[in-house]
Amino acid sequence: MHGDRSGRAPGSPRVLVIGAGISGILVGIRLRQAGIESFTILEKAETLGGTWRDNTYPGVACDVAAHLYVYSFEPNPSWRRHFATGPEIWEYYDRIARKYGIVDHIRYGTEATSARWTGAAWEISTADGETFEAEIIVTAMGRLHHPLEPDIARLDEFTGPVIHTARWDHDVATAGKRIGVVGTGSSATQLTVALADEVEKLTLFQRTAQWVLPVADSPHPLRRRVAFRIAPALAKRYYRKLASFTAARGAAATGTPEQRAPRDAMCRAALATVEDPVLRAKLTPNYEPGCKRMVISERFYEAVQKPTVEVVTEGIDHVEPDGIVTKDGLLHPLDVIVLATGFRSQDFLYPLQLSGEDGVTLDEVWADDTLNYRSVAIPHMPNLFMINGPYSPGGSASVVGIAEVQVGYVMQLIEHIARNGGALVPSPERSAELLAEVRTAASATVWGTGGCQSWYLDATGVPTINPIPLPELAEELAVPHWADFEPARMAE
Ligand code: NAP
Repeated sequence: MHGDRSGRAPGSPRVLVIGAGISGILVGIRLRQAGIESFTILEKAETLGGTWRDNTYPGVACDVAAHLYVYSFEPNPSWRRHFATGPEIWEYYDRIARKYGIVDHIRYGTEATSARWTGAAWEISTADGETFEAEIIVTAMGRLHHPLEPDIARLDEFTGPVIHTARWDHDVATAGKRIGVVGTGSSATQLTVALADEVEKLTLFQRTAQWVLPVADSPHPLRRRVAFRIAPALAKRYYRKLASFTAARGAAATGTPEQRAPRDAMCRAALATVEDPVLRAKLTPNYEPGCKRMVISERFYEAVQKPTVEVVTEGIDHVEPDGIVTKDGLLHPLDVIVLATGFRSQDFLYPLQLSGEDGVTLDEVWADDTLNYRSVAIPHMPNLFMINGPYSPGGSASVVGIAEVQVGYVMQLIEHIARNGGALVPSPERSAELLAEVRTAASATVWGTGGCQSWYLDATGVPTINPIPLPELAEELAVPHWADFEPARMAE
């Protein structure tokens, strides 16, 4: 490794973290634990919590077991059910951010929009025209973040409220109303279950049927919660079992058809519980289970069979002031339109513009593909590290566990820079080599071969998700591969 040529005193790099969600808070915790206090977390919103701040639609919950959706060093024995609701998760991360003294490091209402490498540091500009300087940037901006506004003709002519699930408007009443829900992903299905009993009518506009895996949301009885609190060893044993079960299920999800078979059979059996053959046919996907990210719900099929719910599979033609008109010319009268249409999942780091070594821009580096190094760094962008970057694993493991592994790797790079000064940048050749391997592996999974469109896929139809199981990722990222990094040329 090369030494510092910048003249800056080692030991105190300024670190700018972008985003105060689960990953950004974790970076803050690890920086403080490493004795690095010279960091600021820029958060564009007015509160922390990322996805759990943004998604507050009725029924919002996490379909990863609550006990695995925590930092491993901060278990929460108090989860009441197998799956936690959105507000409970937000409260957990808010509490932890306060406990670890992270909140004072957050600058709210500050959206980083561009960053330029000067040869010795990054100059970061915000939407409000403020500038910051830091030797190191860590992006923790989330992937499912910017709502996807669907291209639906004359949507603006609708006279009632139009709400995206990730921007719920709690002033809009849904009880006793006619609600149109566009989309049938995880957000739409959770919303449908939550609203089915209170609406006059819920019309679900389904473009593509989803496979639904019925996993019971069983309660954690009081005696178990108390036992977990007073006997942490017992709780640990439970978490470990849950983690290894989930890891095995995650590995199977991207494995051979035989490995996927038990899960797929559960999906098919759940679908078979839909009594009306016409409705069942509508809900039957024409692609393999697991191709799209699986919807996990024990109650969705029950909800869509309620008399208040109608599944419409005819395509949407346009919107009129009173409702949605489908391609068969039928007007579906509505009071509220909900866009459960997901996120711009391929717009990594949006809206951040980067100009790195020798003025090379991120648009240039990413002209063909999101070239990256093990999802945590980018060639030509010295001292810039990512959590949940392109090709991060997902779909089969808790995003929190993945973030912990990536943050652990990035922290070792940051501590190296703190000790030695200078800047690290990954080799473009090695990055390209690794990227090719990941793309080959991802393409071979059911995400790539299952015959569907999904938010996993890039414009060329390749899943931008690494299918590596979490335990293997942890092994791979346990120690930095120093030989893959080059010292960046520093300004004299
Ligand atoms: P999504 O899975 O991307 O689903 C979007 C839905 O909108 C799809 O059904 C899509 O149809 C439909 N759609 C998009 N544009 C449309 C258009 N122009 N006309 C008609 N339909 C349109 O989005 P999501 O449900 O918000 O979920 C995204 C991801 O967030 C999930 O996969 C999951 O990773 C995460 N999430 C997790 C939870 C949880 O419990 N952990 C809850 C919510 C979300 P097509 O299928 O035809 O494209």
